[in-house]
Amino acid sequence: MTAIVIDGKAFAAKVRGQVAEHVSRLKDEHGLVPGLAVVLVGEDPASQVYVRNKGKQTVEVGMASFEHKLDVTTSEADLLALIDRLNADPNVHGILVQLPLPDHLDSDLVINSIDPAKDVDGFHISNVGLLGTGQRSMVPCTPLGCLMMLRDHHGSLSGMNAVVIGRSNIVGKPMAQLLLGDSCTVTIAHSRTADLPGVVRQADIVVAAVGRPQMVPGDWIKPGATVIDVGINRIEKPEGGTRLVGDVDYAGCAAVAGAITPVPGGVGPMTIACLLANTVTACCRANGLAEPQGLTA
Ligand code: NAD
Repeated sequence: MTAIVIDGKAFAAKVRGQVAEHVSRLKDEHGLVPGLAVVLVGEDPASQVYVRNKGKQTVEVGMASFEHKLDVTTSEADLLALIDRLNADPNVHGILVQLPLPDHLDSDLVINSIDPAKDVDGFHISNVGLLGTGQRSMVPCTPLGCLMMLRDHHGSLSGMNAVVIGRSNIVGKPMAQLLLGDSCTVTIAHSRTADLPGVVRQADIVVAAVGRPQMVPGDWIKPGATVIDVGINRIEKPEGGTRLVGDVDYAGCAAVAGAITPVPGGVGPMTIACLLANTVTACCRANGLAEPQGLTA
């Protein structure tokens, strides 16, 4: 079997198109402009690239982008004061604090100071609890993007066996909650899982979120399964230079799977698209308006 390639780049463009339509309707019918504030502390090069991309795409879909770049020495009190101002600002519907923060800042404290209704990353403890209890919440962007691609490919996920490899708070755990919400039978595997190959071989859906280059070989995959590769790892090429690979051996898995997301061009582009979707959702909720269909969990 040769797997269908799930094109995350094209899917993300479609999601951004839907977001842009909603933004335009909100402007025309209600005079509202959804706004996303992104806070970056310090000069981590990867974070700077992410923040630039987020700002660019926010503007491209017609939303307002507010970038706050703070010095690496910024005190916790100053950062919390900025978040307070953004919480109170009616033009800001979404707030994202770019992680990781410098060591002297307490990430949990900072994230939990964001108004949960504006927490478009879905990391606030209230949103974690709401998701875990199946209530309306802001959903973390990367797992939301994975869920959208799975729903698009399969229609209903009900009754499917899903194995999520990785138990992080930002990907593995919320991914498992979302799959449970769609009535999958869910296993969360991790670094201490006994017989990981045997566990993965039971899966109709495999979501790999480990951060280890190409660790899932094709012979762990049940024929016809769907493989969602969240990993983004940079490896050296034999001829020199580097390239990006995921957490699965793409060629090996694609030969057995029914469908697979590539790296790059799979889950990655969906993450920012879902951030924009969450910002529109937050704007609609803040104004008592109907939420956009198909852009939330
Ligand atoms: P993390 O380091 O927080 O968590 C990794 C998880 O993998 C841990 O729960 C650990 O138990 C598990 N693990 C480690 N070694 C293992 C092993 N040998 N067998 C089974 N499980 C093992 O990572 P994260 O933040 O969840 O990110 C995971 C990957 O996804 C990384 O490559 C990251 O770059 C990528 N990522 C991509 C996006 C995106 O937008 N596409 C977003 C977030 C993370």
